[in-house]
Amino acid sequence: MKVIVAEHAGFCFGVKRALDMVLKAADGGRPLYTLGPLIHNPQVVEKLRAAGVEVVQDIKNIKEGWIVMPSHGVPKEVTNAAREAGLRVIDVTCPFVAKVHKRAAELARAGFQVAVVGDAGHSEVKGILSAAGDDAATVSSPEEAAATEWSDRVGIVAQTTQVEDRFRRIVETISANVKDAVAFDTICYATRDRQNAVLELAPQVQAIVVVGGRNSANTNRLREICESTGLPTHHIETADEIQPDWFTSMDIVGLTAGASTPNWIIEEVKRKLESG
Ligand code: SF4
Repeated sequence: MKVIVAEHAGFCFGVKRALDMVLKAADGGRPLYTLGPLIHNPQVVEKLRAAGVEVVQDIKNIKEGWIVMPSHGVPKEVTNAAREAGLRVIDVTCPFVAKVHKRAAELARAGFQVAVVGDAGHSEVKGILSAAGDDAATVSSPEEAAATEWSDRVGIVAQTTQVEDRFRRIVETISANVKDAVAFDTICYATRDRQNAVLELAPQVQAIVVVGGRNSANTNRLREICESTGLPTHHIETADEIQPDWFTSMDIVGLTAGASTPNWIIEEVKRKLESG
């Protein structure tokens, strides 16, 4: 079977940067922990564990050592608490995520209620909300935007991994319902490139395989975009999950991967598809 890989797929700048920083720190042999998974990819987290980097869910679980704040950021209170507890902090928050925190804080200071277009409960969104003032709110759909009671002035930002079309529709809905709305499209270029590349790929293939962590926000957005094209779409984490009957009578399949999916997993999936 022929496999076409999307022009932009797999590791982005922010994830590469975070991994490099952590692997460099792990080289020193110091006690090193990440607060939650460094990135949303279980296979990479397992590799880090093999290099001596443990995952903790709460800073209370460690007494000393170095703690890494993940690439998608954390609420600032968490970083402060780690420092107060005497831990050494390595902050690998992606600069694009840090930029959203900054923008949200500026809007809150200027008197806007901040609307964060994103997935409620996602760790990146929790971090953005922590910078965005007490009345900040998450909104994930135009319907939710229409049903929410906003203040007169609303400043809108996006989780970096959102889909542009949904962001635009939410901005339109809020703008139609409040006196003063300003919007900053803070979706990062890596997300945009991966989403556009898969849309360009779709007309050339009979099905698409999306590779990435099941809890990876940007991978899930890629899957939604693929599904919206009407093509059979399969979201997998590893090559082992490929089922032979998915591609019966097909001879050309597309392949894409989220920003936290390493190249070696993409290559394994490609090889298995090609041999099918
Ligand atoms: S997806 Fe974008 S914001 Fe997230 S880590 Fe990658 S470059 Fe940074």
